[in-house]
Amino acid sequence: MDMRIALIPGDGIGPDIVREGVKILNKTADLYGHRIEYVEVDAGGISIDKYGIPLTEDNLEKAKSADAVLLGAVGGPKWDGMPGDKRPEKGLLGLRSGMGLFCNLRPARIYPELSSASPLKDSIIANGVDLIVFRELTGGIYFGKKERTSDGAYDVMSYTEGEIVRIARKAFEAARLRRGRVTLVDKANVLETSRLWRETVKKLSADYPDVELDFMYVDNASMQLVRDPSHFDVLLTENMFGDILSDEASQITGSIGMLPSASLRDDSFGMYEPIHGSAPDIAGKNIANPIATILSCAMMLRYSFSLEDEARCIEDAVAASLSDGIRTSDIAAGGNYIGTAECGDEIARRMQR
Ligand code: NAD
Repeated sequence: MDMRIALIPGDGIGPDIVREGVKILNKTADLYGHRIEYVEVDAGGISIDKYGIPLTEDNLEKAKSADAVLLGAVGGPKWDGMPGDKRPEKGLLGLRSGMGLFCNLRPARIYPELSSASPLKDSIIANGVDLIVFRELTGGIYFGKKERTSDGAYDVMSYTEGEIVRIARKAFEAARLRRGRVTLVDKANVLETSRLWRETVKKLSADYPDVELDFMYVDNASMQLVRDPSHFDVLLTENMFGDILSDEASQITGSIGMLPSASLRDDSFGMYEPIHGSAPDIAGKNIANPIATILSCAMMLRYSFSLEDEARCIEDAVAASLSDGIRTSDIAAGGNYIGTAECGDEIARRMQR
């Protein structure tokens, strides 16, 4: 397959970790006979330094011309004093809205070798934690009409069937590649929008008889994530609930350097990035953990290119390297660790068809 991938290293550790992502993508291409063309794109602080703004039209167009985007991270103390519309984060928001990404995916998985990093008790994570949150990203209360009245304020939450169907389809399809369960999280006992989500998702589930669908109120879901996270496979939810629950889910793994994410739109285009920031405290020192970025590359191959075997090849190599004791400093107990580039090498070395 021919792939055109936009690389946005960004700031801080961004270039360190994107370099390792490229190493893994190239190894995948070698193993499976694909061809990858890379397009370099500037966004964030580096773009402010070069062009005075965090994202230029030109760079946005370059990113949009690719099949998928790999982003490192943006921001850092150098640009902290900039006015709001000139901050590096604006570049990220510009990319997300400019590309129409409505579906945010955040997996949370606890590797047995790293279970001690989880704040949860061993007895709770004994059954394994491997879930993915599908969060609607461009609708709901964050985007509804909001106003101040003389003595109050309101924010409107609204959804259309179409907005629900397009993300629910993606969640059902992902469940098919996983353990086959979708949990719709809502507040259908109180909210009309939640009742629309339930009806619409239930109707759609007829197209996916091989996927089990269950429903959970959001207050219960926030409890179950720390009481019995093994219940969840694909957790599907609207924007604000997903904002809160995806942060909660990431915390139960305890390893910020390990968590990838994806933002998708209707076609196969997507932007893939680690959930952590630009970690300016460790930038350029060859100590950042590249695994979140490497796992973001696996998600790219799965969701943008439908290359499931290739995605699993990367994920298996990450798991194998962890079980062989490969650690960067952030996840090493006892001081035995290797650098960013060496970690990428060890994972690449374990990739096999
Ligand atoms: P951060 O995630 O960058 O760092 C938090 C802590 O985790 C730091 O101690 C850092 O060293 C460590 N860390 C993060 N990623 C790591 C990795 N891969 N390996 C090892 N250790 C890692 O969060 P922060 O310190 O709050 O933010 C730093 C900058 O990043 C800020 O400018 C912020 O605005 C920006 N930021 C960007 C994004 C993004 O680009 N998506 C997200 C969050 C924060």
